[in-house]
Amino acid sequence: MVNISNSLKLDNVVSNDKINPALVTDLKNACDYIRTHIRHDFVAIITSAVSNHSKYVKGTNRLSRHGKGMAVDISRLNGIGQGSNPKEFKELGDLLVKTLVSMGYTNTGSEYNIPKAILWQTKGHYNHIHVSNTTNIPSEAPRFFPKDSSNFVDGTRVVLPNQSNQIPNFASGQPVLEDISAIRSFMNKIL
Ligand SMILES: [Zn+2]
Repeated sequence: MVNISNSLKLDNVVSNDKINPALVTDLKNACDYIRTHIRHDFVAIITSAVSNHSKYVKGTNRLSRHGKGMAVDISRLNGIGQGSNPKEFKELGDLLVKTLVSMGYTNTGSEYNIPKAILWQTKGHYNHIHVSNTTNIPSEAPRFFPKDSSNFVDGTRVVLPNQSNQIPNFASGQPVLEDISAIRSFMNKIL
């Protein structure tokens, strides 16, 4: 296992792959963000990249995004896979996907013509998250809690009112409305 950071690791099988640095940077920023602010136990493992994956678009001799080093698959989150704990795996996967979406990645079930794409909870992509990036420019690192994941703090699920546009106010323990002043004071706390 190769550590990119405490929150993102490369399986040995892909440790010598040449992977688009912008993609690795975005994944590292997303995973570090989750581990720092949402789930302090969060670890994602890249289990396929160029290696451990077919290099061609199915049924063609065209190199796929995997073959070009522009796509990775993540099939281990916090040490578990879909087979061992489907509910927890989906929850952790949703968290990573939402964080990447907040950085400009698109999760619509297809990556055709989409430079920064995710395939998740779609045919063939329930036991791993596929993330691709064909650009060479890293996205802006995440700055806010992704919507709907604000109920994870310190690895513990805390119950907040069912309003997805709220972010937690750590000082009071109460959720606050996601207006600009609340975001500013929240940013001051975490940055
Ligand atoms: Zn893939």
